[in-house]
Amino acid sequence: MLVSIDPATEIVLKEYPEHSPREVEQRLVAARRAFAAWSTRSIAERGLVLHEAAGILDRDAKHHASLITSEMGKPTREARAEVQKCATALRYAAQNAEASLAPRELDARCTIVHEPLGTILGVMPWNFPYWQAVRFLAPALMAGNVALVKHASNVTGCLLALEDVLREANAQEAMQALLLSASHVERVIVDARIAGVSLTGSEAAGRAIGRAAGGALKPTVLELGGSDPFLVMRDADVASAAREASRARCVNGGQSCIAAKRFIVARDIIDDFTEHLVHEMRSLRVGDPTLEVTDVGPLARGDLRDAVHAQVTRSVAMGARVLTGGAARAGRGYYYEPTVMTQVTRSMPVMEEEVFGPVAPIVPFDDENEAVEIANATPYGLGASIWTRDAQKGCTLAPRIHAGMTFVNDQVRSSPERPFGGVKASGFGRELGDEGFRAFVNVRTIVG
Ligand code: NAP
Repeated sequence: MLVSIDPATEIVLKEYPEHSPREVEQRLVAARRAFAAWSTRSIAERGLVLHEAAGILDRDAKHHASLITSEMGKPTREARAEVQKCATALRYAAQNAEASLAPRELDARCTIVHEPLGTILGVMPWNFPYWQAVRFLAPALMAGNVALVKHASNVTGCLLALEDVLREANAQEAMQALLLSASHVERVIVDARIAGVSLTGSEAAGRAIGRAAGGALKPTVLELGGSDPFLVMRDADVASAAREASRARCVNGGQSCIAAKRFIVARDIIDDFTEHLVHEMRSLRVGDPTLEVTDVGPLARGDLRDAVHAQVTRSVAMGARVLTGGAARAGRGYYYEPTVMTQVTRSMPVMEEEVFGPVAPIVPFDDENEAVEIANATPYGLGASIWTRDAQKGCTLAPRIHAGMTFVNDQVRSSPERPFGGVKASGFGRELGDEGFRAFVNVRTIVG
């Protein structure tokens, strides 16, 4: 049984029976049928379907946003923004696929074409329940593939709503929901009718799915965890960097792969920065995610909230100091106080592991080399941000940090036209941008 629980109230919203092996088989058969029809539609025709889906999301944005808030606790403002962003990404994919997938004439005899692969399995996380799925689906569908989507077990309502949107937009069975718990995913991956696998999720899921897909020789995109460094250089505007730091850390309650997770600050300004960051974190309004004023809602599940607290307490036992927060809120809901920690060392859980909650450890550096060394002292390599009044210097420093995306004087953000993905334990492959359209295609060389 897949269970949706409102993390703000701890009330069970709905229970969904998992698909039986027979129901999974029916969907695999339907996907193959859908591929025959969908892949022969022109890119322009597929684009019309995605435009239609974007319009439906806009029309029913309030409903979809409230579903997100109820199933995983995202504050309503952020939930609305997520739905809008999905509509934008669908339109972007509809308008730009043709150029990215156009045949390329290499010489008088040779043409390179991009052909769809077939049915792609998407395994998705709960933290951006619409965005993560759309980020995978929009380019994959535009390339002519069809998709089966297994979503995180706590956001089944969002998955089914997205399936309805695409059905209403006349995608027919080009996207189908698979209601499955994690333990049944491998069986689907190895099925010969699955042509590729896209996972967005944790490092642990990446290893399991990567192993299964690799063993079955399936092309795979793995978008995994991150522990993004937020470097504050000595010349930075401290107050502004601290304000952005609090936002970058607490977006989606701190549950974003590209949230800033480690704050690496020039020693000369660290006291000033820390004071400002504590003030900013205390100013965030934590509470009922359905209220417009709320900045930070509950964490998505009780076990995830407990895991964050365990990382904080283990770090405190190793000598870290909590300046604010550091505790779950009493009462109903999986709330965790925005937290600032100092006296942290690289071997502590809050520095070494991905912390998926509103926890900001601050560590000093003495020179640029040390800043880069600390930034890179993590298994992950997803995003990074550098804060400095000298943007040129920031851009020069950027390539030294192991990451798929580095932003100078801005938070790490995703957008439809920019390739998104990481290195090291943050995974491989790219979504979005030109690369996203080509993630699941046969790049065929034709010589004639
Ligand atoms: P998760 O526990 O890894 O789950 C992600 C998806 O994988 C879920 O659908 C889950 O199903 C499934 N899954 C988990 N273990 C599996 C296994 N062994 N075999 C097959 N499927 C498995 O991650 P999450 O808690 O949902 O999401 C948070 C993580 O995702 C964080 O690490 C975050 O950084 C990462 N993330 C990365 C990106 C990116 O773009 N790089 C974006 C967003 C999130 P169940 O729910 O049924 O367990």
